[in-house]
Amino acid sequence: MCLAMKEEKKLAIRQIRQAGDEILRKKARPVEVFDEKLKELAEDMIETMHKNNGVGLAGQQVGILKRIVVIDIYDNKGPIVFINPVITKTKGEHEVEEGCLSFPNQFAVLKRPKEVEVEYYDLDGKKKKLKAKDLLAQAICHETEHLDGILFIDNMLPGTLEIVKPENN
Ligand SMILES: [Zn+2]
Repeated sequence: MCLAMKEEKKLAIRQIRQAGDEILRKKARPVEVFDEKLKELAEDMIETMHKNNGVGLAGQQVGILKRIVVIDIYDNKGPIVFINPVITKTKGEHEVEEGCLSFPNQFAVLKRPKEVEVEYYDLDGKKKKLKAKDLLAQAICHETEHLDGILFIDNMLPGTLEIVKPENN
């Protein structure tokens, strides 16, 4: 009998790229290999998002030009990992306030669809489809735009950018 050495899981908080970093303007490449490294990246991204109280994080924001997004709207369904997401349908429109982990303490108002349908792959390379509304739909729009180098400030309604002072300073 042989005891396999179990590799310790090492979660890592990754550094979030901030506004002005040119990687945020680059287009990410589709994921083609669904391996352990991808799972590790997704776990790190979820950890990084939670640590920063975010509802979403895209590959670019941790310096990885791959089409991967993690979202958690804290509705007890747990975080969702979207690989190569494509929004296939949108419905309705409303004005929402939005922020971004790459733009700390900045918020603006945007027009977003009320509902979206998104096709994506999970970490095992299985194709999935999801219908989402409200905050989840908003997060899916925000994060998939990141993958194409689009930032929320690009589409904000003029004059709505607000800079909030951090509480502890
Ligand atoms: Zn963002």
